[in-house]
Amino acid sequence: MSASTKALPTPTPETAPYWEGARAGELRIQRCRACTQAYFYPRPYCPQCGSADVEWFVTSGRATLASYIISERAAPGFDAPYAIAIVELEEGPRMMTNIVEVEPTPERLVLDMALEVRFEDRGEITVPVFAPAGQAVEA
Ligand SMILES: [Zn+2]
Repeated sequence: MSASTKALPTPTPETAPYWEGARAGELRIQRCRACTQAYFYPRPYCPQCGSADVEWFVTSGRATLASYIISERAAPGFDAPYAIAIVELEEGPRMMTNIVEVEPTPERLVLDMALEVRFEDRGEITVPVFAPAGQAVEA
């Protein structure tokens, strides 16, 4: 099955900078200028203090594995088993993603393991995913 058959999120005005960032190879999230809290998913108001004085910035792309499940059943466009994970970005926010470049087994997926972002082209959009840190990026 080709990658383009995977279910695709639909960019909205609020999430457009996130998707444009991914397309450019950058993991962009938002930060509140009032209380300095970084957060994800994209919102026009800070979830911590309610301020509308928020900005986009480019994260380091580094994260740790907070939790995951191994799906034995393939969603459309995915080969099972695969890992659906919650990662904690270095900047603090957590996001749901897929873990790639590693066998999706409890032996290989260790909580708190260091991860770094990759960008997976799924046709019309590019999706941030995470791989174990320190591995060579495949050409
Ligand atoms: Zn705030």
